[in-house]
Order: sequence, then C-alpha cells, then structure tokens
Amino acid sequence: MNSIEKEKRTIERFIYYYCKCQHGSEKGELCHACKSLLAYCIERLDSCPFGDEKLSCRQCQVHCYDSQYREKIREVMRYCGPRSIWFMPMGYIKHWHREFKKSI
Ligand SMILES: [Zn+2]
Repeated sequence: MNSIEKEKRTIERFIYYYCKCQHGSEKGELCHACKSLLAYCIERLDSCPFGDEKLSCRQCQVHCYDSQYREKIREVMRYCGPRSIWFMPMGYIKHWHREFKKSI
C-alpha cells in the first residue's frame, strides 16, 4: 500500500469515527456533510502532485485544501487524534501523533 492509500484509509477512519461521535451517525454511515468532506479529501489525495513521494498533507508545501475544508478536516483531526489510540493499530498511532503535533 502506498502512502496515498494509507492516508486515505486514515482519513476515512477518522471521518467515520468523528461522524459517529459528533453527528450520531450509524456505524459505517456518514451524514451528508461528512460524506462530502471525505469525498473532497479523497479527490485531493488522488490529484496530489507528489503521488507516492508525498510525506503527508500536513507537511506538504502545496496546501491544496480549500480553506473551508481545511478547517473541517483539522477539526476532525483534533477530535480523533488523541482518541485514535482506541481504534488504530500501534504503528499508525506513532506515525500519526508525530504528524498531529506538527500540525497544531
Ligand atoms: Zn457527520
């Protein structure tokens, strides 16, 4: 799995978790707002100019996220980051925590 795929899966998990806790969605479902946020993130990742070379969106120089969505995804990260220990495999958590600290 390349880094883009990993990033997609992480974001997907975070958004599902966030939506379940914050918006009361059923497990495995997303509300309308979260669905479009996820679609947007995936689209951005798919069109990332760095492709497999990329580090992570938070370290990226290009800031391709629209400001409205960037705020949203930050909120999701802020919510899920400290809680991710409950639902993420250990390797992910270490990786993610480093990134997370840089981004805020
Ligand atoms: Zn939601």
